[in-house]
Amino acid sequence: MRIDDSLHMLEVKAWGDGFLGLAALRGDDGSVALFDAGLPGSLPSLRACLDEAGLPFDAVDRVFVTHHDFDHIGGLPELLAAAAPRKVLVLAHAEEVPYIQGERPPVKTEPAVRARMQANLPEGQVLGPARPLENPPRIPVGTVLADGQRLDFAGGITAIHVPGHTPGHLCYYLHRSRVLVAGDALRAADGRLEPPAPEHSADVRLARASLAKLADLDLAAVVCYHGGCATGDLRARIRALAAR
Ligand SMILES: [Zn+2]
Repeated sequence: MRIDDSLHMLEVKAWGDGFLGLAALRGDDGSVALFDAGLPGSLPSLRACLDEAGLPFDAVDRVFVTHHDFDHIGGLPELLAAAAPRKVLVLAHAEEVPYIQGERPPVKTEPAVRARMQANLPEGQVLGPARPLENPPRIPVGTVLADGQRLDFAGGITAIHVPGHTPGHLCYYLHRSRVLVAGDALRAADGRLEPPAPEHSADVRLARASLAKLADLDLAAVVCYHGGCATGDLRARIRALAAR
């Protein structure tokens, strides 16, 4: 799905008929930035989506990671291998680095985190099994990002630390497009923004409170990894979700 001249939302194949809303942004020099990398085994679908969008795979030179969940970084090793010997830069928040580099097991496998996730579920709902990667990837992070850091790419990208889903979850604001790449900080359903899901959030209260950091953005659209693109009165919707 084309959002504007430089920004596409790729619908990369996920489970069943589902897709992951993976943003792809063309820089002024023709290079392409991806936001997350899909599940393990996603590469053929990712390549097909890039082709369809007219974005050459060989132009992909950086991946902005929102967080370390396996459906976001699981596709990274195959992507980096397919690009070799060309280097692809991986960027992420400092608090995600040890998980992405395989120095710590995924945060949602930690017993204390799982207990909190279970406690935040509606009564009667049981947390699904921990699904750590069988072989957690070890991906070197080349650029460590901080909250509020602005990068000079395609008119400017600001990293916004929105913790809760995971400790170092980043959203990315694309200044020229006025689009927020939300990762899993928000979900979308039929074009409408939905709050973070307790069964998937390491700390759902924090995830909700963190939405206040997004409430003043000037937004044309929000790209959610789960559910795709949301439009409409996004600022009012985000404010309402943050106030809950
Ligand atoms: Zn996630």
